[in-house]
Amino acid sequence: MVTSSLIHEFGHCKLYEDTGKPDDHKVETEEAANRMGRKSMLELGLIPDRYDEHRAFFRQSYEVDGNWTETQCRAALAEWEERFYGDAP
Ligand SMILES: [Zn+2]
Repeated sequence: MVTSSLIHEFGHCKLYEDTGKPDDHKVETEEAANRMGRKSMLELGLIPDRYDEHRAFFRQSYEVDGNWTETQCRAALAEWEERFYGDAP
């Protein structure tokens, strides 16, 4: 999950290099950063198996009014872990 976040942030940097526009924190820009991050790292083989799922997890924070609270973040993470890992440690 951390690797996918780093790749996403690198995607923001590459978007800025390409467009010169600062990050506007909109969902469309987040999706573009996801695609640019993937494109930039694909040849290196650094895309985690669950990259799309990780990005979908973090996109949720842009789909609520205001910032995600710690409680919302922890609840979303617990739900995500249950969905993908079930009872596994
Ligand atoms: Zn972002």
